[in-house]
Amino acid sequence: MDALSNAISGDINYLLAIGVSDFIDIIIVAYLIYKAIWFLRKTNSYNLAQGLLILLVVLWLSDVFKLTMINNLLRKAVELGLIALLILFQPELRRMLERMGSSFHSGRTASTTAMDTAINQTVLACRDMSASRTGALIIFERNVKLSNIMSTGTVINADATAELIKNIFYNKAPLHDGAMILREGRIAAAGCVLPLTQSTNLSKELGMRHRAGIGLSEQSDAVVIIVSEETGAISVAMDGMLKRHLTEPMLDRLLHSELIREDNEQDKRNIKNLLKKLF
Ligand code: ATP
Ligand code: MG
Repeated sequence: MDALSNAISGDINYLLAIGVSDFIDIIIVAYLIYKAIWFLRKTNSYNLAQGLLILLVVLWLSDVFKLTMINNLLRKAVELGLIALLILFQPELRRMLERMGSSFHSGRTASTTAMDTAINQTVLACRDMSASRTGALIIFERNVKLSNIMSTGTVINADATAELIKNIFYNKAPLHDGAMILREGRIAAAGCVLPLTQSTNLSKELGMRHRAGIGLSEQSDAVVIIVSEETGAISVAMDGMLKRHLTEPMLDRLLHSELIREDNEQDKRNIKNLLKKLF
């Protein structure tokens, strides 16, 4: 009984000794574990993780049973493996760092009025394209620059007007295939090829246009609008998530709240993003 009460009081003392720094420590480690699992899911690397886990368990066992030679060999393998992993995941890691870095600066130079006009015109175009079942893929670039993606299409550099947007996606027009990119409220390029999402748990109704839109939103902070040619449904992809079946007012509200912010609003959001990334 004494032993039990000693153990309990020991645990309580231990809990009471937890300070603010321990708390922060725990939150950061929990966040890192969450990010690691998220990364494994996103890159479909469960098999790789399993292999690594087995390697680490064998390494530990070889240490416990004092199998020196195997232990040394495995240690070398793990060291080399870490470098191999960095090379293997170089594109993903680079994108992750780019996204983190872009949280520090707003990079937005488009005037609020130019962006407001571009949004209004895009919403009008989407309403009409939805009614006429014209497929469209429209990207609003934000902090992560999409110059590489733009170079896969045709440079346009024109004011965003509903007529021009509908013209681009008119299904007999040469640039209707692929995505249109808006930079700072202007149509920068069209006919661009996007990376497809690797996600395996998407609805069967979602074809290449939707997969391409989601794919880009996973790899950048862009806001991607998709108008379905088959159903006329309007969707928006952000951060790898797809909001489907948006009405015209919903699209309007979403675009305004995501793309137009006063500078101090933008700063607040950057700080919020940074805190979100840290904790
Ligand atoms: P919808 O509902 O409009 O049919 P969907 O998601 O079913 O859309 P598909 O029918 O496969 O998609 O659409 C094919 C069109 O998607 C292509 O004609 C092309 O314009 C566009 N598309 C496909 N892949 C890409 C890509 N990687 N990047 C940009 N656009 C793409
Ligand atoms: Mg289709």
